[in-house]
Amino acid sequence: MSISFYNTLTRKTEEFIPMNEGEVRMYSCGPTVYDYFHIGNARSFVMSDIVRRYFEFRGYRVTYVMNITDIDDKIIKRANEQGVPSSEIAETYTEAFLHDSARFGIRPADVFPRATETMDEIIAHIQGLIEKGAAYNVNGDVFFRVSAFKEYGKLSRKNIEELEVGARIEADTRKENPVDFALWKSAKPGEPSWDSPWGKGRPGWHMECSVMSQKFLGETFDIHAGGNDLIFPHHENEIAQSEALTEKTFARYWMHFGFLNIDNEKMSKSLGNFFTAREIVEKFPAEVIRFYYLQTHYRSPLNFTHEGLDAAKTGLQKLQGLYDALREASGGTGPFDVKHFEQRFITAMDDDFNTPAGFGVLFEMVREANSILHGSGGMEEGSREALIDFLRRSCIGLFGILREESGGGATGELVGGLMDLLIGIRADARKEKQYALSDRIRDGLKELGVVLEDSRDGTKWKLSNE
Ligand SMILES: [Zn+2]
Repeated sequence: MSISFYNTLTRKTEEFIPMNEGEVRMYSCGPTVYDYFHIGNARSFVMSDIVRRYFEFRGYRVTYVMNITDIDDKIIKRANEQGVPSSEIAETYTEAFLHDSARFGIRPADVFPRATETMDEIIAHIQGLIEKGAAYNVNGDVFFRVSAFKEYGKLSRKNIEELEVGARIEADTRKENPVDFALWKSAKPGEPSWDSPWGKGRPGWHMECSVMSQKFLGETFDIHAGGNDLIFPHHENEIAQSEALTEKTFARYWMHFGFLNIDNEKMSKSLGNFFTAREIVEKFPAEVIRFYYLQTHYRSPLNFTHEGLDAAKTGLQKLQGLYDALREASGGTGPFDVKHFEQRFITAMDDDFNTPAGFGVLFEMVREANSILHGSGGMEEGSREALIDFLRRSCIGLFGILREESGGGATGELVGGLMDLLIGIRADARKEKQYALSDRIRDGLKELGVVLEDSRDGTKWKLSNE
């Protein structure tokens, strides 16, 4: 069995066949760091992370690259508004992005290339396009010659003639054709700039992504992902610039994530229904938000409501309840066939990462497992352990929605591991009669709000405010 998913390029659900067996090379468009990211962006980042993790769950090795656009019109505008250098804005919001992503339980990419650190490669790429006749320089601005790339429009299925008519309205007279787009923008006074063969300037956004992806994944790679709104012009232009130079397929599969609406309305600052990821994660645990996102298929629009989040919280408690009960249970004789559910779960997820169908299977499993676990015979140990293992792999390793002990979310596993390590060191210290050390561990943890409870069965820990 293999994973199939919808490829925007072909408009078909296709079986995924990687370039190199057992390996996935994936690029996802990251943030332009001029502000905090909002809950719509967060949905794309979470879903992209889930796709990556699901490949790992299925045994693939994944190289996951997400760019950070740290030089762009929006960053410069924000810097000018605040009267600070654009590098300061970029730094502030890069840090905020990494921090908020971590709070959302999104695993860091293997590489986070930054546009400003990829300048040499960007300039070389543009130079190559000029040499091939696919780009031209007009007094320090370099444009892509769309007519040089015959397949332009193949991703968005847009028709060049229609685009030309539309573009003529705001035509830039320096362009040969109104649909041509900027690869390099000459520096205006007071703007950050880099030296280039065409004078001082900076790259266009589309160009940055083409180069950052190929730098770390090669000229051709497996999957390019991003929000629906990026299909045109961003991804269309990425394809044109990349393939016009290399004459090879750029990304083999294109994935796009659906929009997020608030109470059935488009989220916008002017409507007053705009939420940053940072605001929402203050009000709801990240696990609940992730679970909420995952209940909608990644390609469908998601209608974000507070009631929906509350319902997600209740649903998630059922999964957490089973997970906790399994680990507290002992004895028992009833068998439980976890493999059967795991197989069905995989079948659901293999079909275009269908998380709602995957949860359908998981909740059926929760009901059945609960009836055995809380029934008169209880659940026998081997089944319990297999079920705990599956829940760990699916709901912690893959989805990041269950909590280990009191650790919390995606970091829960780590916290649990660290606590086991500390408890083990303390037990050794006591055996060796090093009471100063064992007391130091206990008292230090107490200061952090962690209480150790010793019993004949060993030492357990809990948070003192629970
Ligand atoms: Zn991009």
